[in-house]
Amino acid sequence: MPERTSYDVVIVGGGHNGLVAAAYLARAGRTVLLLERLDHTGGAAVSARAFTGIDARLSRYSYLVSLLPPKIVRDLGLRFAVRKRTVSSYTPTVRAGRPTGLLVGAGADRTRASFAQLTGSAREYAAWEDFYGTTRRLAERVFPTLTEPLPTRAALRARVDDDATWHALFERPLGETIEAAFHDDLVRGVVLTDGLIGTFTTAHDPTLRQNRCFLYHVIGGGTGDWDVPLGGMGALADALADAARRAGAELVTGCPVTALATDGRTAEVTTEGHGTVAARHVLVNAAPRELARLLGDPAPPPAEGAQLKVNMLLTRLPRLRDPHTDPREAFSGTFHVDEGYAQLETAHREAAAGRLPSAPPSEIYCHSLTDPSILGADLVRRGYHTLTLFGLHAPARLFATDTAEAPAARDRLLAATLAQLDAHLAEPLADCLAEDADGRPCVEARSPLDLDRELGLPGGNIFHRELAFPHAEDTADLATAAARWGVATDHANVLLCGAGALRGGGVSGIPGHNAAMAVLEEG
Ligand SMILES: Cc1cc2nc3c(=O)[nH]c(=O)nc-3n(C[C@H](O)[C@H](O)[C@H](O)COP(=O)(O)OP(=O)(O)OC[C@H]3O[C@@H](n4cnc5c(N)ncnc54)[C@H](O)[C@@H]3O)c2cc1C
Repeated sequence: MPERTSYDVVIVGGGHNGLVAAAYLARAGRTVLLLERLDHTGGAAVSARAFTGIDARLSRYSYLVSLLPPKIVRDLGLRFAVRKRTVSSYTPTVRAGRPTGLLVGAGADRTRASFAQLTGSAREYAAWEDFYGTTRRLAERVFPTLTEPLPTRAALRARVDDDATWHALFERPLGETIEAAFHDDLVRGVVLTDGLIGTFTTAHDPTLRQNRCFLYHVIGGGTGDWDVPLGGMGALADALADAARRAGAELVTGCPVTALATDGRTAEVTTEGHGTVAARHVLVNAAPRELARLLGDPAPPPAEGAQLKVNMLLTRLPRLRDPHTDPREAFSGTFHVDEGYAQLETAHREAAAGRLPSAPPSEIYCHSLTDPSILGADLVRRGYHTLTLFGLHAPARLFATDTAEAPAARDRLLAATLAQLDAHLAEPLADCLAEDADGRPCVEARSPLDLDRELGLPGGNIFHRELAFPHAEDTADLATAAARWGVATDHANVLLCGAGALRGGGVSGIPGHNAAMAVLEEG
């Protein structure tokens, strides 16, 4: 139950971004009330004991951190850290009839040798080094702008200060850039996946949604590295909730907001079961579709999600068919399955035509190899491991006839996806799955529509809506603080503070920070 009837700021939604905004604003002396629909905060950045009677705290939805600026961790005094993965990625394949794979990471010499062994020349590794040297320089220049007022397109281009890179990544379809740089289909596919995570598109999409998605996957932290949150993603959400509470913010869970009314100066927020509160500013961490519903406005254009998410617990890591790679190395990075360039194109074509992909592409990784603290001591001792799978090209429309009781399409896709993984294993994954206290295999799968039901992600879109390039158009009206920080809505005192804001999407805290800065700038 809220303690007051009126606040400086009410925040709708307690995802990690809402918590960031709450902590900044409460530390600045504002009265802050955060209202969360679910019985816990964190949104898509949480850990959970997903399997009955099993002491394994899995990052249930999001699992790796790249976009969270160290500045936010420092400013808010968070007790939260990440750990680097020793391997960046491993992609199993078959060449000349023999199982093999591409290992990226574990030292430059290993990576160079792996490229040479796979492609038969030194050329592809040189192209890789050159390409990621370029994205790293881009990251160094673009990432710091994400927590500054929004640059115009011209200002960001000047900051990037490299016309060839600007053209390659901001102006022409990513596929053209990839095809010009790389020859090997598997290498091309590994590069392209960063443009497809959570985004249903192709290499040559003229709208450049693949470029926008790619950009957010390679600029994080000024390096593009994806790190493991120590203690799981829930450790971040808990540290943020703690910081917000310590600063004096009120966090109320189990409290859905049902309506929002504003005259541009003051707003009224109506809740289910806890009455109505007034606020000078309302920050909306929920998705733009939910904001429209609360205001009684028409829904924004849909942008469906397109992923199958699977959490698993294993009694041991499976052996690989590739005899030269240790599964502990392969699974500690991102393990790509059927993500060759042509395979990704085929899977997209099938899904766009309304069919489940015949060879579903996915990527997998094992959190517990880098951070065993998410498992109870007994499970660590017995060699158990978590496995997280993110399947691509599984758009929400394919699951329209699934129900919570009979998720037929989801189950078919899960079986097909695990069969594709099995093709690269020397023993079936099923033999390695742990069982929960009721004797059921420890496998938890979610379609985009499951994520919509559980988290309110529109159509399961993990970024709340389509990602945008991190700049304002040159002609944009940046007269208000909200517009300058990329968090404006049609209402002067209602700001977006979640993934749906410009420069939102991913576990970053950036839109939460930026919405708080806009409120403070307005005074
Ligand atoms: C399966 C999956 C895997 C992902 N993997 C990664 C990853 O590895 N790394 C990464 O960086 N990103 C990843 N993402 C994306 C990332 O998790 C999200 O973009 C990010 O967590 C969004 O955070 P948020 O705080 O803006 O919104 P959310 O986390 O969506 O939080 C919004 C909150 O608002 C609440 N809410 C909604 N409506 C109301 C209402 N009416 N009243 C009150 N409360 C309401 C919701 O319950 C929710 O708690 C993944 C996402 C998913 C789903």
